[in-house]
Amino acid sequence: MSRSIGAHARRFTLIAFAALSMAACEDGPAAAESASARPAQDHGDFKVLPAVLEDDEYTELAEQLSEERWLEDVADVLNESLILPRDIGLRFAQCGENNAYYVPEDHEIQVCIEMFEGERETFAAYYDTEEEIEDAVNGSFLFTVFHEVGHALIDVLEIPFTGREEDAADSLAAWWLIDGDDGEESAISGALSFYTDPDEAGELEESDFSDEHSLSQQRYYTLTCLVYGSDTEKYANLLEEEWLTEERAEQCPAEFQRLTSTWYTLLDAHLKE
Ligand SMILES: [Zn+2]
Repeated sequence: MSRSIGAHARRFTLIAFAALSMAACEDGPAAAESASARPAQDHGDFKVLPAVLEDDEYTELAEQLSEERWLEDVADVLNESLILPRDIGLRFAQCGENNAYYVPEDHEIQVCIEMFEGERETFAAYYDTEEEIEDAVNGSFLFTVFHEVGHALIDVLEIPFTGREEDAADSLAAWWLIDGDDGEESAISGALSFYTDPDEAGELEESDFSDEHSLSQQRYYTLTCLVYGSDTEKYANLLEEEWLTEERAEQCPAEFQRLTSTWYTLLDAHLKE
């Protein structure tokens, strides 16, 4: 498995923290006043817990992921930025599918260790070089983890939301990655993983429409739109290469602006300065 996540995640750590700190400074006296009116106290951290494995099949992989600090680097960046009322666990688990969960009873995020095989297969069919595949797996992993972090924060911080919780979790992940600079690549990898979702490859079924998640193709377009909207010049290729439609692209800068202002407002009392 790739070593590049270490470098990626570490670079991301610094940039994301800088971005959040800067936002806190830019808020000015009014925000400082409102924050002091309802001070959040830091009683917790994201804590990486030992992997839960059913058999020996994934022991070596779990050790390698731990050595390469895949979850540890994510926990570090979150803890540098967030004030939490309690600890939230973060662990790999063998769950028999390519997925991830937030378990509210345990306040714990479980990332299925099988995701590395699943995502590698998805991206191997799309990219030519090993480096591209590894970067995409890395990016998709980060999007998945931050989506679950979205569920966890909605739970422990009692963040209000309208619409589907799944869409709110996607939007937290998109905001954190895209606003944290350099995370755009991860958001694109996450989008591509939705675009190529094998579960929706054939004809769509009733269960796809009744699912609590938006359709994978919709999640793909929303994420791509937010990346494009964050910098329409830098990501002009997304429109040129038809990752997006012209009609949607027009709205993307406003969608990205709304995303950032919403999350800074919702997390205002919980961001470290
Ligand atoms: Zn979810």
